[in-house]
Amino acid sequence: MSSLPNSLKNISLFLERLPGIGEKTANRLAFFLLNLPEEDLKEFAENVATLKSKTKLCKNCFNFTEKEVCEICDNNERDHSIICVVETVLDLLSFEQGRIYNGVYHVLHGKIDPLNRVGPDDLKIGELISKIKNPKSKATGPQQCTSVIN
Ligand SMILES: [Zn+2]
Repeated sequence: MSSLPNSLKNISLFLERLPGIGEKTANRLAFFLLNLPEEDLKEFAENVATLKSKTKLCKNCFNFTEKEVCEICDNNERDHSIICVVETVLDLLSFEQGRIYNGVYHVLHGKIDPLNRVGPDDLKIGELISKIKNPKSKATGPQQCTSVIN
C-alpha cells in the first residue's frame, strides 16, 4: 500500500470504506478505475459529486427521487389505494423487479430497534399513520403485497 502513489492510495482507501470491500479488492478496483477512459472517470466523478444534492426523498412515499414525487407515485396507472409498507428502498426495488405489484409504497427507512435506540419517531411511521387515515388508501405489508401479487 505504501508503495502506491497518493493518487491511487487515496482512491483505494476510500473504496475500502465501502461495505464488503477489503484492502486487496480496493486496490484491484482502484487499478481498474485507472485503466478506464478519462471521460468515463469524469462522468463518474460528476455523478458522485452531485449524488447527495440531486437525490431527495419522495414527499409521498419516501422513495429516492430527483423530483418532488417519485415515478411510482406519479404513475396514474398504479393502484394508489394499495400501499406496500417496506423497510428500505432496497425492499421496494425487490418488489419492482417482480414487475407484478401495481400498488404504491411507503418506505419506513429502518425498523424499530430498541437496543440501538431506534424508536417510531426515528422512522416514517407518523407519515404512514396520516396516510392510512385517508380512506382512499389501505396500507399493507410484504405478505399482503405478495398476496396482491398472487
Ligand atoms: Zn413516491
